[in-house]
Amino acid sequence: MTVGPETPLDSVLGGESAAGLSEALDIRTAGELLDHLPRRWVEYGRLSALAELREDEHVSFVARVHSSSKRKMQRRRGFLTEVVVEDDAGGTLQMAFFQGHRAHRELQRGTLATFHGKVGSYRGRLTLNNPQYAVLTQVTEDVGAAQEQAAAAGLYASLREGPTPLYPANARITSWQIESAVLTLLEVADLTRWPDPVPADLLLSEGADPLAEAYRLVHRPDTLEDTRRGLHSLRLHEAYLLNALIARRRAEAGVGQSTPRPTSRTGLLSAFDERIPFALTTGQREAGGLISDDLTAARPMNRLLQGEVGSGKTVVALRAMLQTVDAGGQAALIAPTEVLAAQHMRSLQGLLGGLVEGDLFTAAARDDDGSDLPTARLRLLTGSLSTADRREALLEIASGRADIVVGTHALLGEQVQFADLGLVVVDEQHRFGVEQRDALRRRGAPVPHMLVMSATPIPRSVAMTVFGDLELTVLEGLPDGRRPIETHVARMTHGPRVIGRVWERLAEEVAAGRQGYVVCPKISESDRREDPESGVAVEQDASVETLAARLAEHPLIGRLRLGTLHGRMEAAEKERVMTAFERGEIDVLISTTVVEVGVDVPNATFMAVLDADAFGMSTLHQLRGRIGRGSAASLCLLVTRLPDDHPSLERITEVAEHTDGMMLARLDLERRREGDVLGSSQAGARSSLRLLRVLRDEELILRTADHVRDLTDRDPRWEGHPELRAAVEAWTAERDHAGDFVTRG
Ligand code: ADP
Ligand code: MG
Repeated sequence: MTVGPETPLDSVLGGESAAGLSEALDIRTAGELLDHLPRRWVEYGRLSALAELREDEHVSFVARVHSSSKRKMQRRRGFLTEVVVEDDAGGTLQMAFFQGHRAHRELQRGTLATFHGKVGSYRGRLTLNNPQYAVLTQVTEDVGAAQEQAAAAGLYASLREGPTPLYPANARITSWQIESAVLTLLEVADLTRWPDPVPADLLLSEGADPLAEAYRLVHRPDTLEDTRRGLHSLRLHEAYLLNALIARRRAEAGVGQSTPRPTSRTGLLSAFDERIPFALTTGQREAGGLISDDLTAARPMNRLLQGEVGSGKTVVALRAMLQTVDAGGQAALIAPTEVLAAQHMRSLQGLLGGLVEGDLFTAAARDDDGSDLPTARLRLLTGSLSTADRREALLEIASGRADIVVGTHALLGEQVQFADLGLVVVDEQHRFGVEQRDALRRRGAPVPHMLVMSATPIPRSVAMTVFGDLELTVLEGLPDGRRPIETHVARMTHGPRVIGRVWERLAEEVAAGRQGYVVCPKISESDRREDPESGVAVEQDASVETLAARLAEHPLIGRLRLGTLHGRMEAAEKERVMTAFERGEIDVLISTTVVEVGVDVPNATFMAVLDADAFGMSTLHQLRGRIGRGSAASLCLLVTRLPDDHPSLERITEVAEHTDGMMLARLDLERRREGDVLGSSQAGARSSLRLLRVLRDEELILRTADHVRDLTDRDPRWEGHPELRAAVEAWTAERDHAGDFVTRG
């Protein structure tokens, strides 16, 4: 019989052994068994390191008895045998056997034995209660000889001199039962005939082995070095498959036809370029070039434009929209909230000036040679429109009169019919997940081009796994003349002067003609929120309502023009406040994190975040990005009441110390789990990666990505690579889409 990865284990192993694996670990096929990798290895002639045990783990290990004692139980009849075992490194572990006559007799000082059980804890120390055990020998000095004896007695699976694998086990199966099944399988299966998609040249350049050898190295190593090499090889295989999956996901996203929207020499785009009051940054020009090429093709564009807050993504998006409109199509700009949609509308109008149809000055706007300027018709479609306005807007969108439509993702709903939607720009991707992107693509031909913009810096490997359907473009650099934002942590435990100084600084900025934000974690006093790391409810947080009332009485701040903004206000009211703040009619905006994304008021140079420990690092960085947008120096104060030794202080301090968003993103990802940072809708609940860690193995993932990309360019359907097709099929059968790949830890 040839044994392949899909071969059921009951045809390879004894029926009892196969049933045991299936019941205890849900392992049914040969491939699944080999993918059940050892957690660690014990070298021949050495004892397991007890320090590596973890609570709740089911473990099997070899240890030497250090002492044994018997005592009567206090509340119950009978007695307890307490056994302390030790390893080579001096680590010890206490075990308890209830009654335990046999244990008391057999487990004498110096005895070697294998133990199996679930690690628990008692009074803060790890312990094993009533473990299964088998005495290896009465020989106490030669651990190797003892292990051989154990093997001969069938307690160890093999009589080998290499490191013994210790498998993840549980109450129903021991590590050595798993080991024994693996060894049987390795004897009967010819792994060299199993499909192995990774090409030989990549193995060579990565110093890795083919799959067959990699499995042998981890399951049946001769040395510990073998296990390292085996794991490296398996990791490479995983990276290769992951990249193949991403490539396929990208290919699927690119299926369908879009209408090509080539540039024209006369039109809105060139008129705009002639008029913008600043020079585009190099980053803006490069990203613009890529996007322009994408729009020119019939293949749908799927691009993620990632750029720091303030890097000028809006201009890049606007230029893409103008190219689309010039070529006869419509463009939609999707913002995460209605407030931001309205703000986008105003900033587009501002950037376009006389190129907006219906603009007050349009009539006067003539090109230098006196010819009429091209104009674009802009439309805002939000829930706060009156019924009549809404009907009119829908009509214009359906008839094609509206060129650029700004709104929330309701714009892509069924009620809204576009005459010829050529481009969808999504600002701030994290509220527009993979499902929404897929839904957009399924709207039918022609598929609109898609540009997703994000200010959240994400390491490239994470972006690839989470946004596998999108090509990533990083918008490098900031427009010239930007002044860096100075950030300080203000510790209220350091005396009452600290918060007083915060308000003084705010008053000084306003006196200098600037504006400021004060951000609170809550809207009203009675709201609760959870600590971002521990999930514990926190009660004592600053709230917009309470603070606004108190600041109105404040001797310095009370004299200023204050406004409040939060998510429970009516849309029209929110918009009124935002517009007033943009116009400089409000000096200080007291708000929740609704100002986190997109808000653009260059005259705002001050921000105080109260109870800053309420926020995660990326939120703080995003918030801070609301200032430092003009040419004046800006100040951000992270106010906290945390005591000196509180662990969350480190998080705030790191934000204060680093202005580089990518650096912060990495620190954040390392601290938390990658999946959490990106939000569960993006990341998927469960990791599907076995060995690979997206952040730690970033280099490996990127190197293999190039290989897969080359191969896919040459052979898009992998027709010459059935083994790759099969491996990816097998993988996707278990997992849904690339969005599920983000690993934890
Ligand atoms: P973000 O990438 O955070 O969305 P914006 O697109 O809102 O950034 O741009 C921030 C500010 O910088 C805006 O006021 C915009 O007009 C301005 N800006 C954009 N590009 C440039 C440039 N090349 N030179 C100077 N200012 C620019
Ligand atoms: Mg923006």
